[in-house]
Amino acid sequence: MVIILKPRASEQEREHIIKVIKDAGLSPHVLLGEERTVIAVIGDERALQKQPLSALPGVEKAIPILSPYKLVSRDFKKENTVIDVRGIKIGGERIVVIAGPCSVETNHLLSSIAAEIKKGGASILRGGAFKPRSSPYSFQGLGEEGLEYLSEARRLTGLPIITEILDPRDLPMMAKHADILQIGARNMQNFRLLAEVGAQDKPVMLKRGLSATIKEFLLSAEYIMAAGNANVILCERGIRTFETATRNTLDLSAIPVLRKRTHLPIIIDPSHAVGQTDLVPPMAKAAIAAGADGLMIEVHSNPEEAFCDGEQAMLPKDFNQLMDELRKIAAAVGRTL
Ligand code: PEP
Ligand code: MN
Repeated sequence: MVIILKPRASEQEREHIIKVIKDAGLSPHVLLGEERTVIAVIGDERALQKQPLSALPGVEKAIPILSPYKLVSRDFKKENTVIDVRGIKIGGERIVVIAGPCSVETNHLLSSIAAEIKKGGASILRGGAFKPRSSPYSFQGLGEEGLEYLSEARRLTGLPIITEILDPRDLPMMAKHADILQIGARNMQNFRLLAEVGAQDKPVMLKRGLSATIKEFLLSAEYIMAAGNANVILCERGIRTFETATRNTLDLSAIPVLRKRTHLPIIIDPSHAVGQTDLVPPMAKAAIAAGADGLMIEVHSNPEEAFCDGEQAMLPKDFNQLMDELRKIAAAVGRTL
């Protein structure tokens, strides 16, 4: 349920409403707006049967949220959420491009890729230090050493960094380095991990599971928000279908569907969706045309020797050329890049 307070509700009235919600064993999530305050009530609302919130002083109306997800829903928050990461705004008018190698390999390689993508206009550097590989014998990532290289690349270029967390036990180490924590597709429904990243304050980018519906995707984002972290970014990265011509099938319609249902920023990862370098540019353009807030693109200066996902990595020069083309698409849909 969402409680909308009267425009002139006093602080005491607000505090009293919050107390009634808590006393009923429910949790209030307060959104202080410029004009009025909205409180989402999360939990089993049967506890409020004896004490209807709509009768309390200061309450204008109580509206049920019909979707199974609440805090991520547009019914709770009408305006788009904009997340500030070291001055980069994700979810605003400007499209944000995240780029970098699939995994962190060497310090020198990472920093040189970072410098190149920065020249092209990317605003955030990606790179996995912990890799979720299908085979236990494939390269698993450099671990903490990789995080240190990411920090070094940030120091040299000023680009904020995003990296994937696989295990909640790594959180303290991750928190020392990462600006955004990535939850990979394979962990979208690792509910304990979602709750842990929800209980800390770094922004989280949640990738859609390989065979997750949009409802399941949003319910996973709800786990993070319900644990207290409002800075959640959604990333569509292709889903598994019967089609084998591409690595996955990019669900572009997820963009307008998510836009209607949630206020959270929407990023598209065409690289993992198509799995082949030459298919990345058309899908990146299509994503911007369809209204994405940003892109995540894999870039490597020597794709043939990349430790993972070389077949989908763009060369820095091709990435930078793509950025020029994307600027035109962004302008056509009233955005900048
Ligand atoms: C990644 O972005 O590094 C990654 C592993 O992607 P996904 O979780 O979407 O497969
Ligand atoms: Mn990859």
